[in-house]
Amino acid sequence: MAGFAHIPSVNWIVVSQQPTDDLLAQANTLILKVSVGIFIFYLFIFLLVWYISSFISSPLNRLARMASMLNQAEIEDKIKEVDPWYFEVLKFRTSLLMSSESFSHRIAELKHHVNTDPLTGLYNRRGMQLFLNELLDTCTEFAVLAIDIDFFKKINDQYGHDQGDVVLKTLAQIMQTNFREHDICCRSGGEEFLVLMTTADPLVAHKAAERLRLTMQDNQINQMGQITISIGIAFWPKDAVDVAAVLKIADNKLYEAKHSGRNCIRSTVKSSA
Ligand code: GH3
Ligand code: MG
Ligand code: MG
Repeated sequence: MAGFAHIPSVNWIVVSQQPTDDLLAQANTLILKVSVGIFIFYLFIFLLVWYISSFISSPLNRLARMASMLNQAEIEDKIKEVDPWYFEVLKFRTSLLMSSESFSHRIAELKHHVNTDPLTGLYNRRGMQLFLNELLDTCTEFAVLAIDIDFFKKINDQYGHDQGDVVLKTLAQIMQTNFREHDICCRSGGEEFLVLMTTADPLVAHKAAERLRLTMQDNQINQMGQITISIGIAFWPKDAVDVAAVLKIADNKLYEAKHSGRNCIRSTVKSSA
């Protein structure tokens, strides 16, 4: 490589020469340095953009993951833990909380429908089983009251099925006011009901049964005359360790009450009340 310049004051021409390889060697080093510099710069920019974007998207990611887990128990607390530091996250979080609320509301509603009888609102056999399991798990002694409406077929025949349903609903209401909050009232079948009373005392169980029997007897439902009930009582674990056996014993006692003329109570334990 050569270059020259004319110097007018002395009228000289200066020529400069350099081997091409030397020059290209410097250029390669320069290109390498510039490339490494650009690479580091872009790497830095890339990492910065990656960090900022993941910082922005991480709350959205967390919320999106939670959207598929709305059936979990503590999901609302987890959603509330997400910091809504910009508007979109706040909006997403709010709507997710609303969805989760309505989801748990619907689940609770479904559970309620699955475990209760639609006509009377009392627990059905399935609901009763849940409470039985709880009583057994906690070894809580309880009394079983098997209740059956006397001559219910006649009521249906005489006044119609709709009026029969009114009698069932009325008895259910009376039961709910007659027993304490932690006694479980269930409709076990057509016109048959069960109460699980959390007591081991035969006198307490008998008194509650008698109160129910008298209230029903004295209650006038749509001029249908006197409607009475018969009740059989058995105790867990006094009468049997197997719960199914206790339910059967209460049923046998109910049968005994029917055969003793109805509108009365029969228990496995003689009560002095
Ligand atoms: P007992 O005194 O021996 O119990 O006589 P009962 O007539 O009550 O005899 P039973 O228990 O055999 O009769 C039950 C009747 O209950 C038969 C059925 O038509 C009626 N029943 C069952 N489920 C319902 C219901 O959901 N609504 C109405 N209205 N009646 C029902
Ligand atoms: Mg019956
Ligand atoms: Mg009956």
